[in-house]
Amino acid sequence: MAQPTHASPTFGIIGAGMSGILAAIKLQEAGYGFTVFEKADRLGGTWRDNSYPGIACDVPSHIYSYSFALNPEWSHFASPGSEILEYFEGVARRYGVDDQIRFSDPVVRCTWTEEERWEVETAAGHIETFDFVIAATGILHHPKLPDIDGLDSFAGPMFHSARWDHDVALDGRRIGLIGTGSTGVQITGALAPRVGRLSVFQRTAQWVVPVEQVAYSEEEKQTFRTDADALDRLHEELTQAFNDGFGTSILDGESEMVDGIEARCREELAAIADEELRAKITPTYRAGCKRLVISHNWYDAVQAETVEIVTDSIERIEPEGVRTADGRLHELDVLVLATGFKVDSFMRPMTITGADGVDLDDVWAQRPSAYMAITLPGFPNFFMLNGPNSPVGNFSLIQTAELQFEYAMDLVERVVSGQLSRIRPTEDAARRFEDERVDAAKNTVWATGCNSWYLDDRGIPFAWPFPFERFRREMAEPRLGDYEGANA
Ligand code: NAP
Repeated sequence: MAQPTHASPTFGIIGAGMSGILAAIKLQEAGYGFTVFEKADRLGGTWRDNSYPGIACDVPSHIYSYSFALNPEWSHFASPGSEILEYFEGVARRYGVDDQIRFSDPVVRCTWTEEERWEVETAAGHIETFDFVIAATGILHHPKLPDIDGLDSFAGPMFHSARWDHDVALDGRRIGLIGTGSTGVQITGALAPRVGRLSVFQRTAQWVVPVEQVAYSEEEKQTFRTDADALDRLHEELTQAFNDGFGTSILDGESEMVDGIEARCREELAAIADEELRAKITPTYRAGCKRLVISHNWYDAVQAETVEIVTDSIERIEPEGVRTADGRLHELDVLVLATGFKVDSFMRPMTITGADGVDLDDVWAQRPSAYMAITLPGFPNFFMLNGPNSPVGNFSLIQTAELQFEYAMDLVERVVSGQLSRIRPTEDAARRFEDERVDAAKNTVWATGCNSWYLDDRGIPFAWPFPFERFRREMAEPRLGDYEGANA
């Protein structure tokens, strides 16, 4: 049996978003040393980067909370982004991890050394070594700009949805919006009542599930404040319904749940009097194939006098606006690009060199992947939270990160106790997992014939394709036989 090497291991955490803060709090509770590295000057990850009008989390707020820091104060069933950012800042402060974050100093390099530790270097030249690295760098953090002729020629203000320029006036002006994903739909709902004209350039119609915007009353909040059990129960019930119910059923494109979602959307579409508009926004693929869009105001917004849904393809951008294939110039004052993110970036750009000098960029030259979505064969003692192949589209990202963290800690404790000398999945286990994952992914709703950010370069969904129950089970009991040197 391996000898204990790390009685009190230390951790480098990369990223102070939802997953990084979670890791910091849990490591602090466990009494382990850590440093959190954050590239920006503020924590909050996606909720810091995205501040566009209408931003909210369409996952119910009482699920989108840490299980150990439930929040009786959520204003809405699906609360606005600024409130979510405040929540993460408040939790980090309350647990005392906010002052353990190195802000504005991005990690540029992680190297596994001969001493079997990780050397982490930042852009400012700061170097620290750790026993373990936890990459909590997020998925959707590098904006993807559209490859459209003349993009840079636009004369007015132009910005990506995740880099919103709040100095630019919008009220009464002519705004162009490219993209109708979850972001574009939220922006459309928020801008429709404010602007002079909103031209929404839609390439593919979306299944937009209508929901009511439910605000919690003061009485309900008071109940949550005074009855911790009620808050726990709500979190538990919503989590079960969301992950085991919705999240698992939607994987199967043939499921009755998907039929029900389509039927609900079709009711809403049928109520649109303008036939041309109705046809434009009616999708022609299976609901759930792209990430479902949830909205309380899309169907009203698209029928507003200020809004035009433009489905003619974009030919080029000109100084005055957007020219579509029908030859029309849509004159604009401001152009917003809600065109999504580069989804294979994860820890990039960062040089991560594992055992035997192997470079992560080489390992991921074709596409990112990871054993159980958490560990990598050539990169000992390195964990990813919400990394490649992690459940992205259907399960709660916070619960996913919590379960992944517990998995990582289970393995770390085995190093602390001497059962394992390091955490390194075998190449064979990683390959077996990936083969099984790919086979299952081909049979999910994401592969039923649409273009989406869930698909890798081969057109195979890169997310976790198994039911939530399996995710929970795998996270609760690491398959020790899949790790080098394990005696299991
Ligand atoms: P997205 O889902 O990738 O959508 C990008 C949009 O831009 C699509 O409508 C796409 O059209 C369009 N587009 C891209 N390139 C284009 C081009 N060259 N010409 C014309 N149109 C182009 O990005 P997103 O809306 O930012 O959402 C990304 C993810 O973030 C979501 O799926 C979700 O997971 C997350 N999110 C969550 C929430 C929430 O409330 N929880 C809110 C916002 C975002 P096609 O459809 O034709 O590709």
